[in-house]
Amino acid sequence: MKSFKEIYKSAENKIAGIAAAPGIVIGEVYLFTKEKLEISKADIKDVDEAKRNFQEALEKSKKELKKIFAIAKERMGNTRAGIFEAQLMILDDPVLIDNIIKRIEEEKKQPEYIVDDEISKYQQMMFLSHESYMKERANDIEDIKNRIVRNLRKKRWQSRIKGEVIIVSDSLTPADALLLSRNNIKSFVTDHGGLTSHAAIISRSLNIPAVVGTHNATLKLRDRQMVIVDGFYGYVLFDPTEEQIAFFDEKHKHLVQLQREFDELADKPAVTKDGKEIELLANVDVTGEIDIVKTSGAKGIGLYRSEQLLDEMDTIPNEEEQALIYTRLASRIYPDSITIRAFDIGGDKFKLFDYDEPNPFLGLRGIRILLENPELFKEQVRAVLRSSVNKNVKLMLPMISTIDEINRTKEIIENCKKELTSEQIPFDKDIEVGIMVEVPAAAVMAKEFADATDFLSIGTNDLIQYLMAVDRGNDLVSDLYQEFSPVVLRTIKKIVDDAKLVGKPVSLCGEMAADTLAMPLLIGLGLESLSISPRTIPYAKRIIMSFSHADAKAMAEKCTMCCYEYEIEKTIQEFFEENQIIRTRNII
Ligand code: PEP
Ligand code: MG
Repeated sequence: MKSFKEIYKSAENKIAGIAAAPGIVIGEVYLFTKEKLEISKADIKDVDEAKRNFQEALEKSKKELKKIFAIAKERMGNTRAGIFEAQLMILDDPVLIDNIIKRIEEEKKQPEYIVDDEISKYQQMMFLSHESYMKERANDIEDIKNRIVRNLRKKRWQSRIKGEVIIVSDSLTPADALLLSRNNIKSFVTDHGGLTSHAAIISRSLNIPAVVGTHNATLKLRDRQMVIVDGFYGYVLFDPTEEQIAFFDEKHKHLVQLQREFDELADKPAVTKDGKEIELLANVDVTGEIDIVKTSGAKGIGLYRSEQLLDEMDTIPNEEEQALIYTRLASRIYPDSITIRAFDIGGDKFKLFDYDEPNPFLGLRGIRILLENPELFKEQVRAVLRSSVNKNVKLMLPMISTIDEINRTKEIIENCKKELTSEQIPFDKDIEVGIMVEVPAAAVMAKEFADATDFLSIGTNDLIQYLMAVDRGNDLVSDLYQEFSPVVLRTIKKIVDDAKLVGKPVSLCGEMAADTLAMPLLIGLGLESLSISPRTIPYAKRIIMSFSHADAKAMAEKCTMCCYEYEIEKTIQEFFEENQIIRTRNII
């Protein structure tokens, strides 16, 4: 039988991308286009009806904006919320509204065309302003246009799709991926996005094979076209030949068989050949994943991405709702423990506001947004505390970059504890509070930060992005997103050594831990605990059981001396060959 390499070498019908979630799928394309505003300039017959539609859309938009403005004021303070006030003022501007109505009457064109045109003029005026503040506001009002047009079309976001299809899209937000996955989606293919974009992570969590960063799949593929998606090697084959279909059918069958073997590994501990046990924990992104965690053989949940709740529920759950969810999770995983990460909002994840930050990854994200919104943060902390009665819940803080953030959080936690005590609500008084090390600042200060907290968890997805100054979701610079960069290795080593110096546990929960190629290296660098997607736990166990800790340590030491990524990769490859370790990809 031919190898993957041979198949791809001769294939002229291939689209290359980044393998984002493993699996092989054969099926039909569904081109998922997000509402791009193709404005219709068509003539209208009924002017009164058009005017009525416009008024209704305007009222609906105002209602939506008022709600957003109220939340924004409460959570962001008056100054920042001001942008929504400005948007509301535009919607109340009698000159603008009168102009739109007059033009509908005179020109008898679709209201959406007139709205678009009038608001664009408004925008243009602001762009031409000499004040930079006004120029910035001009971008903000793009949203007003979109909002009214969407309401004119009485449209909601469409996420219902019939049949078993392969979604091909320009890009997907985590919410898109999550909502779409409620249908019978077989696979995701996107033009943009990288391996650690949150949409890719969600695909892996949901076990939906995905290829991202294809640049032009949406242009090359058409609706209902037959394709093969290979989430192991990152290719899409369109109109596959009989030989290709037979090849991938075979691989698919083998995968099913392999899964059975993996199921048998579930109850066995992850121990190296020379007896070192490695703690394998699970990352949970979607609440429903807990069932897989239970059967995966994980020793608990090392990262519960609580912000996913906001996408799943399409709103911010209140304290009661959160307490119920966390308590259920904690009791399902008992006696193992769950590490709940406080809402990591911002970046490419759930947005609290319609406010577009110029650099969201460097902006109001994680702990920053939580400390700016103490009410939101307090509700979550109280809910986590309430779920901790059985002493198997830990709280983890995302995006920490200063010790002040740790101190301020501790103060909030202390206050919540006092409140709960006076309300006679039980909780774990000694609940462990740890931090994610995912910002270079935290890596530099790892010793001090470890000293100030109960544990560290290295978030390589962000750490690599911030160390290398490369957007984790941008396929154009994905070459620079190097997990085997000496910079990354030395930083991980420093964090692990620092934590050990002050006697605090350290784990690693970024996607790097799930890369089977990185596993001996990370263990060799001194990590004794890894948190990975539950589906990769059997793969990880298989690898860990096939080398010795002492050998991995020697290999890691060699790697930390290297200056080039390729030298490190070569050293690891040699280690795999010497120890005859078979990687995930090579198994199939
Ligand atoms: C990380 O940054 O490595 C991490 C685990 O957090 P997230 O991927 O959710 O940003
Ligand atoms: Mg992160």
